[in-house]
Amino acid sequence: MSKLSGSLALRSGDGGKVSCEYVREARSPQEAWPHLQCAGDGAMGLCVNSEGAIPRGKGYAPPSGCISLLRNEQHPREPVASGGARRSNLAPGRVLVLSAGVLALAAVTLLIVSAFLAPGTGRHVLVISVDGMGSSYYMQPAAGLKTPNIRRLMAGGSFAWAVEGVYPTLTYPSHTTIVTGRRPAEHGIYTNLSSRQPGKKPDDWFWFAKAIKAPTLWDEARAHHMTSAAVAWPVTVGATIDWDVPEIWDPSKGQVSDPFYVLRFVNPITVIELAWAMGIPQRGSEDDANRTKAACYFLTQHQPNLILLHLEALDRAEHVFGPHSPQANAALERADAHIGEMLSAVKQAGLEMSTDVFVLSDHGFLPVDQEVQPNVLLAHAGLLTTDSEGKVTGGRIATVVNDGSFFIYWPQGTDLGAEVDSALKPLRDQGLVQAVFDQEALHEMGADPEARLALEASAGVEYTAEATGPLVRTLSREEGTHGFLPSRQGLESSFIAWGPDIRPGVEIQRIRLTEIGPTILDAMGIHDPKFGDRPPLDVIFKTENPGPAVPVP
Ligand SMILES: [Zn+2]
Repeated sequence: MSKLSGSLALRSGDGGKVSCEYVREARSPQEAWPHLQCAGDGAMGLCVNSEGAIPRGKGYAPPSGCISLLRNEQHPREPVASGGARRSNLAPGRVLVLSAGVLALAAVTLLIVSAFLAPGTGRHVLVISVDGMGSSYYMQPAAGLKTPNIRRLMAGGSFAWAVEGVYPTLTYPSHTTIVTGRRPAEHGIYTNLSSRQPGKKPDDWFWFAKAIKAPTLWDEARAHHMTSAAVAWPVTVGATIDWDVPEIWDPSKGQVSDPFYVLRFVNPITVIELAWAMGIPQRGSEDDANRTKAACYFLTQHQPNLILLHLEALDRAEHVFGPHSPQANAALERADAHIGEMLSAVKQAGLEMSTDVFVLSDHGFLPVDQEVQPNVLLAHAGLLTTDSEGKVTGGRIATVVNDGSFFIYWPQGTDLGAEVDSALKPLRDQGLVQAVFDQEALHEMGADPEARLALEASAGVEYTAEATGPLVRTLSREEGTHGFLPSRQGLESSFIAWGPDIRPGVEIQRIRLTEIGPTILDAMGIHDPKFGDRPPLDVIFKTENPGPAVPVP
């Protein structure tokens, strides 16, 4: 465990000063952001809102719209300075104003920290994931589709015609495969949803990096004295990433973007930096625009060796309007503009000669026009229990909906296979299942080792979680989804590489998603044969193993 520590001096409106000190336990995923201790009676941390920074403490209710820098009030941090927290005459609740000196001090502190981490390999890698961008968007683009940046990267770099993903083809398992080079069974992010207990936290996703069981690109970066940054990259809450704005939302409010909720899970020093550089994000502003702004800031300000950016608007549009719909094409054009902003930031930072760029995606999409609710049959057979509103509250089995597939679980030592099979007979009779996979088949696919059965939806069918109502609903218009088998046509994801080390004009017909992580690692100048379960795509590099961009002292 390595400890980083430093301090921030905050100046109040009347010229008084308050000091805050922090310690970062860099190798503890749960405590990866600093313990922050501010002076002042009972002060336990800070809030940041549009007015500046506000100390908060016992008995003091922060104003609305205040970003909490203490994650858990029930567990206040112990004072971190050897002499204990310094006392101040400032009363808790006084509004403070962040001075330029504060930020300068924070920047100096971070620069000192960075200096301790140098030199690494001197290389830089920018990874942009355009969620839901099937490779057909660039292999067979619609007439008039304006994606000049993607076209430029393809023309000057290497790309795959198709990438075969993992099962299920969902965002969180797939993004974790990208950063580990391993399939879900090995990396531990088996689906989007984290619960395997019926009725327990059904809306919680795998947000927390501690669930990842395999080494990640950011682990490798840190082990090789390189820095990393990530914006909205899935499964990074608490990750050992130097500058991280993770993707997370309040499960009680649904999958709604709320920057104030997200910032609770961000290193407070990073929150202060971003608030200073970008202002406080406004609710309702385009999420991808905010994400890109933050990534550009990290890139130009900190020049991390690895930067991961996840853009989500295309996926959202495809779910609602279907793949290749006018709305989806418009979202892709906006994503392309964001890619252009990132490329400009690379140039602005003077990193063009040491930065390789990867534009890729997690999965493609299929059109759907029917919703099917297998839980209705399982509840009817007494395998699941429901409340008066039809929500699953418990049962002898658990189910996880992956939209294009449906995983079923039951405890070791029981065999409910025949009962489940009998309950699901109407699905087969009505042609609503394309395939059923048992545990052995799922094992071969590298899918969730605990799942006993997986239902693969028929063409045009999407599974949903409701346990009451009709078995089948016909949608009023075509929508889109994923989560199906990665080998189905339309689910292919994307891979485009470009940069000083990337060979131009290399086209590979079909690669696997597991090959991308080792390839990115190679571009970082790190050669670790134990990383991932497949070798890197050496063919895209100008030299077989890109060496350091600058000599390592
Ligand atoms: Zn996705």
